[in-house]
Amino acid sequence: MNCLIIGSGPAGYTAAIYASRANLSPVLIEGPQVGGQLMITTEVETFPGYPEGVAPFQMMDDMRRQAERFGTQFMEGIVEKVDFSCSPKKVWLDNGTLLESETVIVATGASAKFLGIPSEEEYKGRGVSACATCDGFFYRNKTVAVVGGGDTACEEATYLAGLCKKVYMIVRKPYLRASEIMQQRVLNNPKIEVLFEHNTLQLTGEPKVQGADLVYRKGSAEEEVRHIEIDGFFLAIGHKPNTDLFAAYLDRDEEGYIKVQGDSPRTNVAGVYAAGDCADPHYRQAIVAAAAGCKAAMEAEKYLKQ
Ligand code: NDP
Repeated sequence: MNCLIIGSGPAGYTAAIYASRANLSPVLIEGPQVGGQLMITTEVETFPGYPEGVAPFQMMDDMRRQAERFGTQFMEGIVEKVDFSCSPKKVWLDNGTLLESETVIVATGASAKFLGIPSEEEYKGRGVSACATCDGFFYRNKTVAVVGGGDTACEEATYLAGLCKKVYMIVRKPYLRASEIMQQRVLNNPKIEVLFEHNTLQLTGEPKVQGADLVYRKGSAEEEVRHIEIDGFFLAIGHKPNTDLFAAYLDRDEEGYIKVQGDSPRTNVAGVYAAGDCADPHYRQAIVAAAAGCKAAMEAEKYLKQ
Protein backbone atom coordinates (compact mmCIF):
# COMPACT_ATOMS: atom_id res chain seq x y z
CA MET A 1 0.00 0.00 0.00
CA ASN A 2 1.18 3.52 -0.77
CA CYS A 3 -0.66 5.65 1.71
CA LEU A 4 -2.44 4.80 4.95
CA ILE A 5 -4.41 7.50 6.73
CA ILE A 6 -5.33 7.05 10.38
CA GLY A 7 -8.32 9.14 11.47
CA SER A 8 -11.56 10.40 9.98
CA GLY A 9 -11.77 14.04 11.02
CA PRO A 10 -11.24 16.98 8.64
CA ALA A 11 -7.48 16.29 8.51
CA GLY A 12 -7.88 12.61 7.61
CA TYR A 13 -10.62 13.12 5.02
CA THR A 14 -8.83 16.04 3.36
CA ALA A 15 -5.62 14.01 3.19
CA ALA A 16 -7.69 11.24 1.57
CA ILE A 17 -9.19 13.61 -1.03
CA TYR A 18 -5.75 14.85 -2.07
CA ALA A 19 -4.04 11.45 -1.88
CA SER A 20 -6.71 9.73 -3.95
CA ARG A 21 -6.72 12.48 -6.57
CA ALA A 22 -2.95 11.98 -6.81
CA ASN A 23 -3.53 8.27 -7.47
CA LEU A 24 -1.93 7.12 -4.23
CA SER A 25 -4.86 4.70 -3.63
CA PRO A 26 -5.12 5.63 0.05
CA VAL A 27 -6.76 3.52 2.71
CA LEU A 28 -8.34 5.44 5.58
CA ILE A 29 -8.95 3.88 8.98
CA GLU A 30 -11.96 5.55 10.49
CA GLY A 31 -11.22 4.97 14.17
CA PRO A 32 -13.48 5.03 17.20
CA GLN A 33 -15.34 8.29 16.41
CA VAL A 34 -16.14 8.45 12.69
CA GLY A 35 -16.05 12.12 11.66
CA GLY A 36 -13.86 13.10 14.61
CA GLN A 37 -14.40 15.61 17.38
CA LEU A 38 -16.61 17.83 15.26
CA MET A 39 -19.35 15.23 15.59
CA ILE A 40 -19.92 16.25 19.21
CA THR A 41 -20.81 19.83 18.24
CA THR A 42 -24.25 21.06 17.31
CA GLU A 43 -23.68 22.93 14.08
CA VAL A 44 -20.66 24.08 12.08
CA GLU A 45 -20.91 27.74 11.15
CA THR A 46 -17.26 28.62 10.63
CA PHE A 47 -16.24 26.30 7.79
CA PRO A 48 -16.15 28.28 4.51
CA GLY A 49 -18.61 27.18 1.85
CA TYR A 50 -21.63 26.71 4.10
CA PRO A 51 -23.29 30.13 4.30
CA GLU A 52 -26.24 28.76 6.27
CA GLY A 53 -24.09 26.56 8.54
CA VAL A 54 -24.04 22.80 8.32
CA ALA A 55 -24.74 19.86 10.59
CA PRO A 56 -21.43 18.19 11.53
CA PHE A 57 -22.74 14.85 10.32
CA GLN A 58 -23.52 16.38 6.91
CA MET A 59 -20.17 18.10 6.54
CA MET A 60 -18.16 15.04 7.47
CA ASP A 61 -20.28 12.84 5.23
CA ASP A 62 -19.68 15.30 2.36
CA MET A 63 -15.93 15.09 2.93
CA ARG A 64 -16.07 11.30 3.12
CA ARG A 65 -18.04 11.03 -0.13
CA GLN A 66 -15.63 13.41 -1.83
CA ALA A 67 -12.72 11.16 -0.84
CA GLU A 68 -14.66 8.06 -1.89
CA ARG A 69 -15.38 9.56 -5.31
CA PHE A 70 -11.65 9.60 -6.10
CA GLY A 71 -11.11 6.05 -4.88
CA THR A 72 -10.27 6.21 -1.17
CA GLN A 73 -10.94 2.91 0.57
CA PHE A 74 -12.34 3.09 4.10
CA MET A 75 -11.74 0.58 6.84
CA GLU A 76 -13.53 0.33 10.16
CA GLY A 77 -11.28 -0.39 13.06
CA ILE A 78 -9.07 1.00 15.75
CA VAL A 79 -5.31 1.02 15.46
CA GLU A 80 -3.78 -0.97 18.30
CA LYS A 81 -0.09 -1.01 17.48
CA VAL A 82 2.33 0.43 14.96
CA ASP A 83 5.90 -0.21 13.88
CA PHE A 84 7.46 2.74 12.10
CA SER A 85 11.02 1.41 12.35
CA CYS A 86 10.75 -0.56 9.12
CA SER A 87 9.79 0.07 5.52
CA PRO A 88 6.97 -0.37 4.70
CA LYS A 89 5.51 0.84 8.01
CA LYS A 90 3.30 -1.60 9.89
CA VAL A 91 -0.06 -0.89 11.48
CA TRP A 92 -2.16 -3.44 13.38
CA LEU A 93 -5.91 -3.04 13.88
CA ASP A 94 -7.96 -4.26 16.83
CA ASN A 95 -9.43 -7.04 14.67
CA GLY A 96 -5.95 -8.45 14.10
CA THR A 97 -5.47 -7.10 10.55
CA LEU A 98 -1.91 -6.08 9.70
CA LEU A 99 -1.57 -3.24 7.19
CA GLU A 100 1.69 -2.26 5.55
CA SER A 101 2.22 1.06 3.87
CA GLU A 102 5.03 3.16 2.42
CA THR A 103 3.59 6.34 3.95
CA VAL A 104 1.35 6.93 6.95
CA ILE A 105 -0.63 10.07 7.71
CA VAL A 106 -1.51 10.30 11.41
CA ALA A 107 -4.69 12.32 11.86
CA THR A 108 -5.93 10.89 15.14
CA GLY A 109 -7.07 14.21 16.64
CA ALA A 110 -7.37 15.14 20.27
CA SER A 111 -10.01 14.54 22.86
CA ALA A 112 -11.39 17.20 25.16
CA LYS A 113 -11.01 16.22 28.76
CA PHE A 114 -14.24 15.75 30.64
CA LEU A 115 -14.81 15.77 34.39
CA GLY A 116 -16.08 12.21 34.48
CA ILE A 117 -19.41 12.89 36.18
CA PRO A 118 -22.34 10.82 34.83
CA SER A 119 -24.59 13.78 33.94
CA GLU A 120 -21.96 15.13 31.52
CA GLU A 121 -22.49 12.11 29.31
CA GLU A 122 -26.26 12.27 29.72
CA TYR A 123 -26.48 15.92 28.56
CA LYS A 124 -23.93 15.78 25.71
CA GLY A 125 -25.46 17.77 22.83
CA ARG A 126 -28.19 19.03 25.21
CA GLY A 127 -26.30 21.77 26.97
CA VAL A 128 -22.86 20.24 27.50
CA SER A 129 -20.09 21.29 25.15
CA ALA A 130 -16.32 21.31 25.06
CA CYS A 131 -16.04 24.04 22.42
CA ALA A 132 -17.24 27.60 23.01
CA THR A 133 -16.29 28.76 19.51
CA CYS A 134 -18.39 25.95 18.01
CA ASP A 135 -21.44 26.13 20.23
CA GLY A 136 -21.40 29.51 22.02
CA PHE A 137 -23.65 31.10 19.44
CA PHE A 138 -26.54 28.88 20.54
CA TYR A 139 -26.44 30.46 24.00
CA ARG A 140 -26.89 34.08 22.97
CA ASN A 141 -28.43 36.09 25.87
CA LYS A 142 -28.45 32.98 28.04
CA THR A 143 -26.50 32.01 31.13
CA VAL A 144 -23.64 29.53 30.87
CA ALA A 145 -20.85 28.09 32.99
CA VAL A 146 -17.27 27.37 31.94
CA VAL A 147 -15.25 24.86 33.95
CA GLY A 148 -11.50 25.40 34.29
CA GLY A 149 -9.07 28.10 35.30
CA GLY A 150 -6.45 27.97 32.56
CA ASP A 151 -5.95 30.04 29.42
CA THR A 152 -8.52 28.05 27.45
CA ALA A 153 -11.19 28.55 30.12
CA CYS A 154 -10.45 32.28 30.34
CA GLU A 155 -10.50 32.61 26.57
CA GLU A 156 -13.77 30.70 26.29
CA ALA A 157 -15.38 32.62 29.15
CA THR A 158 -14.38 35.94 27.57
CA TYR A 159 -15.69 34.79 24.18
CA LEU A 160 -18.97 33.61 25.71
CA ALA A 161 -19.35 36.87 27.68
CA GLY A 162 -19.57 38.61 24.30
CA LEU A 163 -22.64 36.54 23.46
CA CYS A 164 -24.29 35.54 26.72
CA LYS A 165 -26.17 37.33 29.46
CA LYS A 166 -23.93 35.88 32.16
CA VAL A 167 -20.99 33.51 32.42
CA TYR A 168 -19.97 31.61 35.55
CA MET A 169 -16.45 30.23 35.72
CA ILE A 170 -16.18 27.17 37.93
CA VAL A 171 -12.61 27.00 39.21
CA ARG A 172 -11.48 24.29 41.61
CA LYS A 173 -8.52 26.25 43.05
CA PRO A 174 -8.62 29.61 44.88
CA TYR A 175 -6.82 31.19 41.91
CA LEU A 176 -6.69 31.08 38.10
CA ARG A 177 -3.85 29.30 36.39
CA ALA A 178 -4.13 31.39 33.21
CA SER A 179 -1.65 34.01 32.04
CA GLU A 180 -1.93 37.39 33.76
CA ILE A 181 -3.47 39.13 30.77
CA MET A 182 -6.18 36.47 30.39
CA GLN A 183 -6.93 36.61 34.10
CA GLN A 184 -7.35 40.37 33.96
CA ARG A 185 -9.73 40.09 31.02
CA VAL A 186 -11.88 37.69 33.00
CA LEU A 187 -11.74 39.49 36.32
CA ASN A 188 -12.54 42.86 34.74
CA ASN A 189 -15.47 41.55 32.74
CA PRO A 190 -18.71 42.44 34.55
CA LYS A 191 -20.55 39.57 32.85
CA ILE A 192 -18.20 36.92 34.27
CA GLU A 193 -18.52 35.67 37.84
CA VAL A 194 -15.67 33.44 38.95
CA LEU A 195 -16.66 30.80 41.49
CA PHE A 196 -13.34 29.87 43.09
CA GLU A 197 -12.96 26.63 45.03
CA HIS A 198 -16.04 25.09 43.45
CA ASN A 199 -16.43 21.65 41.91
CA THR A 200 -19.34 20.35 39.90
CA LEU A 201 -21.42 17.57 41.45
CA GLN A 202 -24.11 17.17 38.82
CA LEU A 203 -26.12 18.87 36.10
CA THR A 204 -29.87 19.19 36.37
CA GLY A 205 -32.81 19.97 34.04
CA GLU A 206 -35.18 18.31 31.63
CA PRO A 207 -34.78 17.80 28.69
CA LYS A 208 -31.75 20.12 28.55
CA VAL A 209 -29.32 21.50 31.09
CA GLN A 210 -31.05 24.03 33.33
CA GLY A 211 -28.74 24.08 36.32
CA ALA A 212 -25.71 22.67 38.12
CA ASP A 213 -25.12 21.57 41.69
CA LEU A 214 -21.71 22.69 42.87
CA VAL A 215 -19.79 22.03 46.03
CA TYR A 216 -17.80 24.82 47.63
CA ARG A 217 -14.60 23.94 49.56
CA LYS A 218 -15.24 20.24 49.54
CA GLY A 219 -13.86 18.43 52.56
CA SER A 220 -13.48 21.57 54.72
CA ALA A 221 -15.57 22.90 57.60
CA GLU A 222 -17.13 25.41 55.17
CA GLU A 223 -18.22 22.76 52.68
CA GLU A 224 -21.52 23.75 51.14
CA VAL A 225 -23.59 22.59 48.17
CA ARG A 226 -24.72 25.45 45.95
CA HIS A 227 -27.00 25.50 42.92
CA ILE A 228 -26.64 27.76 39.87
CA GLU A 229 -29.14 28.14 37.04
CA ILE A 230 -27.50 27.78 33.64
CA ASP A 231 -28.47 26.89 30.07
CA GLY A 232 -25.05 25.67 28.94
CA PHE A 233 -22.07 23.94 30.56
CA PHE A 234 -18.71 24.30 28.81
CA LEU A 235 -15.70 22.14 29.64
CA ALA A 236 -12.34 23.87 29.27
CA ILE A 237 -10.08 21.69 31.36
CA GLY A 238 -7.68 20.83 28.57
CA HIS A 239 -7.32 18.50 25.61
CA LYS A 240 -5.35 15.33 25.21
CA PRO A 241 -3.93 14.49 21.78
CA ASN A 242 -4.61 10.91 20.76
CA THR A 243 -0.97 10.00 20.19
CA ASP A 244 0.05 7.51 22.88
CA LEU A 245 0.14 4.77 20.26
CA PHE A 246 3.01 6.46 18.46
CA ALA A 247 5.12 7.31 21.51
CA ALA A 248 7.89 4.83 20.69
CA TYR A 249 8.46 6.25 17.19
CA LEU A 250 7.31 9.85 16.88
CA ASP A 251 8.75 12.81 18.76
CA ARG A 252 6.07 14.48 20.87
CA ASP A 253 6.04 17.54 23.13
CA GLU A 254 5.46 17.22 26.86
CA GLU A 255 1.68 17.33 26.39
CA GLY A 256 1.78 14.57 23.78
CA TYR A 257 1.33 16.64 20.59
CA ILE A 258 3.34 15.18 17.71
CA LYS A 259 6.25 17.42 16.77
CA VAL A 260 6.30 18.44 13.12
CA GLN A 261 9.02 20.20 11.16
CA GLY A 262 8.27 23.90 10.76
CA ASP A 263 4.94 24.49 9.06
CA SER A 264 5.12 21.12 7.29
CA PRO A 265 3.40 17.96 8.59
CA ARG A 266 6.69 15.99 8.46
CA THR A 267 7.52 14.07 11.61
CA ASN A 268 10.92 12.72 12.69
CA VAL A 269 10.20 9.51 10.72
CA ALA A 270 10.54 9.81 6.93
CA GLY A 271 7.25 8.93 5.25
CA VAL A 272 5.16 9.52 8.38
CA TYR A 273 3.14 12.75 8.61
CA ALA A 274 0.98 14.23 11.35
CA ALA A 275 -1.99 16.46 10.54
CA GLY A 276 -4.74 18.11 12.53
CA ASP A 277 -5.30 18.33 16.26
CA CYS A 278 -2.88 15.49 17.11
CA ALA A 279 -0.09 17.90 16.14
CA ASP A 280 -1.75 21.26 16.84
CA PRO A 281 -1.88 22.57 20.40
CA HIS A 282 -2.86 26.07 19.25
CA TYR A 283 -5.73 26.39 16.78
CA ARG A 284 -7.82 23.20 17.01
CA GLN A 285 -10.09 24.26 14.12
CA ALA A 286 -11.53 22.07 11.37
CA ILE A 287 -10.27 24.38 8.64
CA VAL A 288 -6.71 24.32 10.00
CA ALA A 289 -6.82 20.52 10.30
CA ALA A 290 -8.10 20.23 6.73
CA ALA A 291 -5.21 22.37 5.49
CA ALA A 292 -2.72 20.18 7.36
CA GLY A 293 -4.31 17.07 5.82
CA CYS A 294 -3.82 18.56 2.36
CA LYS A 295 -0.14 19.28 3.08
CA ALA A 296 0.39 15.77 4.46
CA ALA A 297 -0.98 14.15 1.29
CA MET A 298 1.19 16.37 -0.89
CA GLU A 299 4.25 15.47 1.20
CA ALA A 300 3.39 11.76 0.94
CA GLU A 301 3.13 12.06 -2.82
CA LYS A 302 6.52 13.78 -3.00
CA TYR A 303 8.09 11.11 -0.77
CA LEU A 304 6.72 8.28 -2.91
CA LYS A 305 8.02 9.89 -6.11
CA GLN A 306 11.50 10.14 -4.60
P1 NDP B 1 -4.46 23.96 31.43
O1 NDP B 1 -3.93 22.62 31.74
O2 NDP B 1 -3.53 25.13 31.45
O3 NDP B 1 -5.62 24.32 32.47
C1 NDP B 1 -6.61 23.42 32.77
C2 NDP B 1 -7.52 24.04 33.82
O4 NDP B 1 -8.55 23.10 34.06
C3 NDP B 1 -6.82 24.31 35.14
O5 NDP B 1 -7.37 25.44 35.76
C4 NDP B 1 -7.14 23.06 35.93
O6 NDP B 1 -7.21 23.26 37.31
C5 NDP B 1 -8.55 22.78 35.44
N1 NDP B 1 -8.89 21.38 35.60
C6 NDP B 1 -8.22 20.30 35.12
N2 NDP B 1 -8.85 19.17 35.47
C7 NDP B 1 -9.94 19.57 36.18
C8 NDP B 1 -10.98 18.87 36.83
N3 NDP B 1 -11.04 17.55 36.80
N4 NDP B 1 -11.92 19.58 37.50
C9 NDP B 1 -11.88 20.92 37.53
N5 NDP B 1 -10.93 21.66 36.94
C10 NDP B 1 -9.96 20.97 36.28
O7 NDP B 1 -5.22 23.77 30.03
P2 NDP B 1 -5.63 24.87 28.94
O8 NDP B 1 -6.40 24.13 27.92
O9 NDP B 1 -6.25 26.03 29.57
O10 NDP B 1 -4.25 25.31 28.32
C11 NDP B 1 -3.37 24.36 27.70
C12 NDP B 1 -2.12 25.08 27.20
O11 NDP B 1 -2.46 25.93 26.09
C13 NDP B 1 -1.52 25.99 28.28
O12 NDP B 1 -0.14 25.97 28.14
C14 NDP B 1 -2.07 27.34 27.91
O13 NDP B 1 -1.24 28.40 28.38
C15 NDP B 1 -2.12 27.29 26.40
N6 NDP B 1 -3.15 28.19 25.87
C16 NDP B 1 -2.80 29.45 25.56
C17 NDP B 1 -3.72 30.34 25.09
C18 NDP B 1 -3.30 31.72 24.79
O14 NDP B 1 -2.17 32.05 25.05
N7 NDP B 1 -4.17 32.55 24.25
C19 NDP B 1 -5.12 29.97 24.88
C20 NDP B 1 -5.41 28.62 25.27
C21 NDP B 1 -4.45 27.77 25.76
P3 NDP B 1 -5.89 23.35 38.24
O15 NDP B 1 -5.31 24.69 37.98
O16 NDP B 1 -6.45 23.16 39.58
O17 NDP B 1 -5.02 22.22 37.80
